[in-house]
Amino acid sequence: MTRTVRDPIELLRDRLEEQFQLNTDLLSEFTVCSRQPDRGGYDRDTLAALIASCRQAIADTAQALRHMAEGDYGICERCGDRIPIERLQILPDTRFCVSCQWTRTI
Ligand SMILES: [Zn+2]
Repeated sequence: MTRTVRDPIELLRDRLEEQFQLNTDLLSEFTVCSRQPDRGGYDRDTLAALIASCRQAIADTAQALRHMAEGDYGICERCGDRIPIERLQILPDTRFCVSCQWTRTI
């Protein structure tokens, strides 16, 4: 059986896996920099911020992939509604629907 149209969730899984790999690579690169005397040319704060954002991205993508494996991917963690695929395509690792995201940040 050949599948020309792929499940949109499958496509998102590919993207999440890519994102996970990319951030893992970046994190090890920044970690190497942080051990060098000149920190690879980065100032201390920038490097710390880059490392923190990589760690966060890795945690978010890992969590999204775990939800996919468990079959509850795309469900808002706050209200339990299904997050529209259009939103997931923009933010594959989002944990909240639009309205919960808004009430959360306000
Ligand atoms: Zn929600």
